[in-house]
Amino acid sequence: MIRATPLPTNPEPAAGPAPLLRVTGVKKYFPITRGIIFQHKVGEVHAVDDVTLEVFPGETVGLVGETGCGKTTLAKVVTKLYEPTEGTLAFDGEDYTRYSRRQMRPLRRQMQMIFQDPYASLNPRKSVGAIIGDPFRIHRIVPKKEIKPEVEHLMELVGLNPEHYNRYAHEFSGGQRQRIGVARALALKPRLIVCDEPVSALDVSIQAQILNLLEDLQAEFHLTYLFIAHDLSVVRHVSDRIVVMYLGKIAEIAPKADLYRDPKHPYTGTLLSAVPIPDPNLGRARQRVILQGDVPSPIDPPTGCRFHPRCPKAHFPRCREEQPELRAMGENHLAACHFPLTGPDDLTAAVAAAATAAGAAPASGTVSFAPPTG
Ligand code: SF4
Repeated sequence: MIRATPLPTNPEPAAGPAPLLRVTGVKKYFPITRGIIFQHKVGEVHAVDDVTLEVFPGETVGLVGETGCGKTTLAKVVTKLYEPTEGTLAFDGEDYTRYSRRQMRPLRRQMQMIFQDPYASLNPRKSVGAIIGDPFRIHRIVPKKEIKPEVEHLMELVGLNPEHYNRYAHEFSGGQRQRIGVARALALKPRLIVCDEPVSALDVSIQAQILNLLEDLQAEFHLTYLFIAHDLSVVRHVSDRIVVMYLGKIAEIAPKADLYRDPKHPYTGTLLSAVPIPDPNLGRARQRVILQGDVPSPIDPPTGCRFHPRCPKAHFPRCREEQPELRAMGENHLAACHFPLTGPDDLTAAVAAAATAAGAAPASGTVSFAPPTG
């Protein structure tokens, strides 16, 4: 069973060590059924498999991994858009794992979500004012006549012109639409916002604006973010800690600086070897590790370490036979690997050895990891 760090790792956990969100041993399996009239289960997709994670007040936890690794499913389980198959969820010490929709209502005010696609997540038939004002109407926390000034205030807060109150979502650019999504998420003054790839559908220049906006809002309202992305160069700008997921499981958890400087899991090392470095000389001499093969099926995950079919270091029977547990590799640094990386040279040597064993010529250059920024 995976055990994440029980300790706060935010450099300045503002409200003490108690986690705002605690996810313990959470699994989410989707049944695969056959038959038209009499359906029977023939298998399960192991989308999230025994994940334990804590998020502390005021911090940003970045959740990264390839498409299909279970990040979005975990976000939907946390916000109870999906019911967990197993495990427990607690918000500010309150166990809400088996809460009904009705019981979830008060918690929904404190826990909001920003969705990936700013084009699909806004109702095209409603004006922007109505979209942002919906949470006030649904939760009945603001008198009807005060909704419009509240919405205009929120629009101003996220950098939208309040005069555009009656416009429709299609009249806005992608970045402006994501600002509408942010304003809607902020309406109920939540404490936790789950950001599900909030910038991946946007141009790079617009991405920076939205990331800066999220950071400013966090400072102003003391928000806590669970920030999901598939791109390590995006999460490094916003995260205090980073969680790397692979095929439904946590591969590594560490404070940002540690993870970028000294990754322990070979999967994290390969991801970091591909993050752009703003130094052309270093970039030219650098080897980017390309993982061989596709991500294995979550219906029938590999035995032992789930990463072993693609891992350049997986020469040992133990990798194929024994599932690695998350274990401490440094202060607040955990990784699930039997043979953790000792540095970029270790990964360079492992990649060269794997290429030789496969009868291919080793790639030129050496592996280096991208430095953390921000
Ligand atoms: Fe690679 Fe083995 Fe570590 Fe898994 S346990 S990441 S296969 S070295």
